[in-house]
Amino acid sequence: MDGPQIKALAHRLNQLLFNQLVGRIDVPADRWQANVLLKHCAGQHVRRVYSHGRWLLWNFSHGISWACYPLRRWRWSIDFPESDSGSGPSLLRSVGIGGAPPASLSAMVVPPSVSPLLLIPGRRPLLRMTLTDGRRICLSGRPLFLIMLTEGLWRHPELSSLGPDLLADQFSKTQWVYRLRHESGKTVSQALLEQNVAAGIGNQSKCEILFAAGISPSTHMTTLTREDLDHLADVAVELLMAQFRSALSPISAPPVPRRVFDRAGEPCDICSTPIAVDRSGCDNRWSWYCPNCQPAREEPMLFNPEETRLAETDPVRQKS
Ligand SMILES: [Zn+2]
Repeated sequence: MDGPQIKALAHRLNQLLFNQLVGRIDVPADRWQANVLLKHCAGQHVRRVYSHGRWLLWNFSHGISWACYPLRRWRWSIDFPESDSGSGPSLLRSVGIGGAPPASLSAMVVPPSVSPLLLIPGRRPLLRMTLTDGRRICLSGRPLFLIMLTEGLWRHPELSSLGPDLLADQFSKTQWVYRLRHESGKTVSQALLEQNVAAGIGNQSKCEILFAAGISPSTHMTTLTREDLDHLADVAVELLMAQFRSALSPISAPPVPRRVFDRAGEPCDICSTPIAVDRSGCDNRWSWYCPNCQPAREEPMLFNPEETRLAETDPVRQKS
């Protein structure tokens, strides 16, 4: 999940949990070392769920916060108690609210006051939070999960180094372009992923942004002009906002097509050239791109060829 999907997840969780009282928290005894701190949040209210970049942040009423980061796939789901189950045992319907796509899309349900969600099969959760009204929020997958004092949240090294959130209302494209121009020692592929420059772009978004901007992932930052960077910033924010709207409300906002990411060998939608994949960004992350729509640029030479030639011949002249 990249920033837009996590922002949509945070929005949904906040809609569901704002000011809700947590009845209990269950965690597998062998999976979490912070069981005591986690369970300490039972009996407290959820004050806020929000995101910054790819971080999902929770504030609780007793001054404790969670900071969750999807190292690999994760899945959040909520179990709604069935209101019409009569006097029998209470039934729960499990609904995915973010993360990996469900295994089955066969049953669609639309819980009240929430965007259309998908029924998913139960999985062994890493964390299960039960609210006092019977709803249960489950997390499975492999996140980085930090628990800390809310007042010290933004002093944590993982968070204090983050740049501005690309999807925040107050985000400034001008400021981002200014910061990008200082990433001169990197390729554009590396610079886009630098979360301390701007937070929220993951590898999939990076590939799609570069395709939309017509820039090869191996392009060195020094070859991009101010106009190139302005165009790149415009394209990036527009694409991320479209991804966010689609993740938040898949019915009212059209899905953002995957043009290059994970499509190696398939024809480009524009020119039919096979999509290529390599580590051309030199950032240890794979980059998918269209070699035709995103042509490589010539890198500037460190020295003017004429000056270089003179420098080489000068010593000879001196000897002669
Ligand atoms: Zn193409």
